[in-house]
Amino acid sequence: MKLGLVIDLDVCVGCHGCAVACKQWNTSGTTGPLTDTDAYGAEPSGVWFNRIRSYEVGDYPHNKTVHFPMSCMHCEDAACVTVCPTGASWKRQEDGIVLVDQDKCMGCNLCSWACPYGARELDPASGTMKKCTLCIDRIYDERLPVEERQPACVLTCPAHARHFGDFDDPESDVSRLTRERSGYALMPEMGYKPTNKYLPPRQKRTVDTSDVARGGVRDKLKAWVNRVVAR
Ligand code: SF4
Ligand code: SF4
Ligand code: SF4
Repeated sequence: MKLGLVIDLDVCVGCHGCAVACKQWNTSGTTGPLTDTDAYGAEPSGVWFNRIRSYEVGDYPHNKTVHFPMSCMHCEDAACVTVCPTGASWKRQEDGIVLVDQDKCMGCNLCSWACPYGARELDPASGTMKKCTLCIDRIYDERLPVEERQPACVLTCPAHARHFGDFDDPESDVSRLTRERSGYALMPEMGYKPTNKYLPPRQKRTVDTSDVARGGVRDKLKAWVNRVVAR
């Protein structure tokens, strides 16, 4: 199995719901709590497994705002695993999930420097590295109904921009969406083979609002007003 996420950049509205759901679930999960410092002060800081960046792309009138959620890509050739000197960072053979063993991590930060996607979060309170677990403590929990064995971020997204599944299964939602919507990996040229895929935002449609396009409504209205006034 090769488990991962597909994120649809065409429909993500940047609401941060996934980031908050992730934090809520994982703060009491296998690697929680996810610390916050100075949360209401001048210099708030905290541990977030999933962060959303927003960009304005293109030139007017073809410009568009694109919201870009990013969490661990669960890379096939994970740089974070290669560089970890204690073996705390590891990749599961059976499903490809990359995890950090909190008991082995010494917080040296090497994996964070190696990760090209900025997916690692050093928790100052525990002195250990933390990251997206693909909600491993949800997706395999047989006490949950089958439809709830999904990552918290996927379940909460109001736009249905996030999809979870097995990329090794050609009939899974994530494989089908990637195939049909030309999904791509982020920065594949780096060579780490990220599992997660992004669906590109579609071109913004330009709507012709000229009077001609609207069937000359303004001219017809003007003629009608003139007739009424002339009576
Ligand atoms: S995205 Fe970063 S933290 Fe996640 S597997 Fe790849 S290198 Fe490791
Ligand atoms: S899969 Fe789970 S841990 Fe990863 S970003 Fe989503 S909610 Fe957070
Ligand atoms: S919850 Fe969905 S729509 Fe909101 S930021 Fe996350 S991916 Fe985008």
